[in-house]
Formats: sequence, structure tokens, C-alpha cells
Amino acid sequence: MAIPEPRDDLGLREGYHSPQVDVAVRLNTNESPLPPPAEWLAALTEELGRIAFNRYPDRDATGLRQALADLHGVRRDQIFCANGSNEVLQSLCLAYGGPGRSVAVFEPTYALHSHIAHLTGTEVVEGQRRPDFSLDLDVARDLVSARGPTITFLCSPNNPTGMAEDPTAVRALLEAVPGLLVVDEAYGQFADWSAVSVVDDASPLVVTRTFSKTWSMAAARLGYLVGPPVVVAALERVALPYHLDAFKQVAGRLAVQFVGEMEQRVGLVVRERQRILAAFAGLPVVAWPSQSNFILFRPETRKGNEVWHGLLDRGVLVRDTSAWPGLTGCLRVTVGTPEENDTFLTALTEVLR
Ligand SMILES: *Cc1c(COP(=O)(O)O)cnc(C)c1O
Repeated sequence: MAIPEPRDDLGLREGYHSPQVDVAVRLNTNESPLPPPAEWLAALTEELGRIAFNRYPDRDATGLRQALADLHGVRRDQIFCANGSNEVLQSLCLAYGGPGRSVAVFEPTYALHSHIAHLTGTEVVEGQRRPDFSLDLDVARDLVSARGPTITFLCSPNNPTGMAEDPTAVRALLEAVPGLLVVDEAYGQFADWSAVSVVDDASPLVVTRTFSKTWSMAAARLGYLVGPPVVVAALERVALPYHLDAFKQVAGRLAVQFVGEMEQRVGLVVRERQRILAAFAGLPVVAWPSQSNFILFRPETRKGNEVWHGLLDRGVLVRDTSAWPGLTGCLRVTVGTPEENDTFLTALTEVLR
């Protein structure tokens, strides 16, 4: 008897992991630096006492999906929820990808789009972004018409580069795709335009969102998409029965009652982001503009990986993207609290001195 080898096509793939190092200032995974409101926690604690834990949860997540529909001004049958938006992406690949099918991505972008596609046995076809990391519409149109992907991924604002896609380009690509266009809006609240406004029952567009970032609920693992009901129905067919636990359904439903507080946190992060960018102007770094809660930058006087280690020695963890294709020498820093950002800027100044 022997333990079998896992699937051959997993062999070369490493997981997508940012090291969870125990340091004082963790600016590596784009979480919110602030907790959700105390009122939310109080309401959650009270409702948890009413959950019938011996029973399976509401399989249709009716209350949660209705709350999200109300938040976006859409119908409940346009909402699909899962355990983090990564699971939404996985469900999309399970339902619309698979062997013999492909997804299109435009690099550099969110690594999990191609990673999840590979895990589901889906081929990945890659186009490159322009040198300034904006989407080249001609490249995108040529790629999708040549390769016929059943899913085309965009990420807006794009992780790890920071800028939102141009609405005109998104609309034009929607006209050109032979399959679904998935716009990952994990940082959507930081942008001044959302593709949710273009979602229509007759259009192959879906928009994914998460509670992990602006909602300060990364621990809860909750994400969703807004899209046509036929897509939602297809995703329900690949989701495991009762995949959304009762606890999470309550947490999400209550969270959206505190949308004003969420927007205030977004405002604070935006102000701090501008402050970091202003400080970068006096340092030997190239920084890219950002419409999100992180900044991509490239130290000019030392190697990215050395700077990453130098920051870690000073108790600051950022994301080392310096060896990623198209991002040579670059690091990505998440905007933290004012104090955390001060610590980061002091450490960076020392490391670059
Ligand atoms: C953080 C992030 C997500 C969030 O994934 P969850 O599974 O919801 O935590 C999704 N997409 C992008 C681009 C992200 O940066």
C-alpha cells in the first residue's frame, strides 16, 4: 500500500502564500488596518445566540444575499456568495473552465486568477499589460479572439499594480469577449467607477467583491459576485451543499448595515496613501499611482529583496513582488494605520540610506 502521488499538473505549482511572519507591522496582505465597528460585533454576538447550531444553515443564504442586493441596487438572484471571493473565482472556473477550456489574464495581475484556473484543470492564456500597467485593449481583443477563453479576468483596481481599469476599455472588452468577463473588484470601494453598474441579465459580465479588505472581515472568509441569474444558477450547481455557514451569513448581513463606517475607513486609508506617496517623493524609489489600499514601488538604490529583508529586520513586513514577472525589483506595501505607516516610512528611509 502506498500513498498515491497527487495530480501531475499540480507538481510545479506552489501555493500562493505570503509568509505569515509574526512582526509588529504587517503590511503584506492588503487587509484593513482597523477592526469592524464595535456595534457590528455587538449585533453579531447577539444574533449568534439565536443560531440553531444543530441544523444546517439556510442553503440559499437568503438574508445575506438580499442585504447585498439592496446594497448594490440589484436583485437577490443576481448574487452568489462563497467563502471568500477566491472561492467565488474557483466556482467560476469549476463551472465555466475545466479541461479543454481556457481563461485569459493580463499580467502582471492577481496571481490567484491563473493559480485557481490551473487547479481546476483550465488552461491559462496570458496577455501583457502596457509598461505603465494599464490594459492594452488591442492586445486584449487579439488574445481573446485568437484563443477563445470561456473566462476573461480583469482586476480593477489591479492587484498588485494599483490602478483601476478604464471604464471605456472594460465596456469595449465586454463587447469582444467570447465568454464571461469577470471583473475582480476586491478593492472596488477605492475606485470612482464600478463595473457593477454595467451588470445586466443579458450580458456576460460578472463582478466579484470581498469582505476581506474594506469591510475589515478577512477572518470571516466571505466574498460574492454580482452577475446574471443564469451564472448564479450555474455556480450554485458546483458549490458544495451548505457551503456558507450560518455564522458567516449573519456576519455579512449585519456588516452591510455599517456601510457608512466602512466608507470612513476607506477615506482614512486614502488620506494615508496620499501621505505615503508624498513621502516617497523624497526617497530614491519609483512609485506607481494607486486607487487602492496598497502601493507598488521600486527602490532605486538597492535590490527589492534586500529592502524587503531590511524592513523585516525593523519589524515591518511588506509583500516581496521583486521576483514576479514584469515586477523586477518591486515591493508592495499595504496602507496601515498612521502609526504603522510612520514606522514603515522610518524603516524604509533607514534601509535606503
Ligand atoms: C485580496 C483579494 C481577493 C480576496 O480574496 P478573499 O478570498 O475574498 O479573501 C480577491 N481578489 C483580489 C484581487 C485580491 O487582492
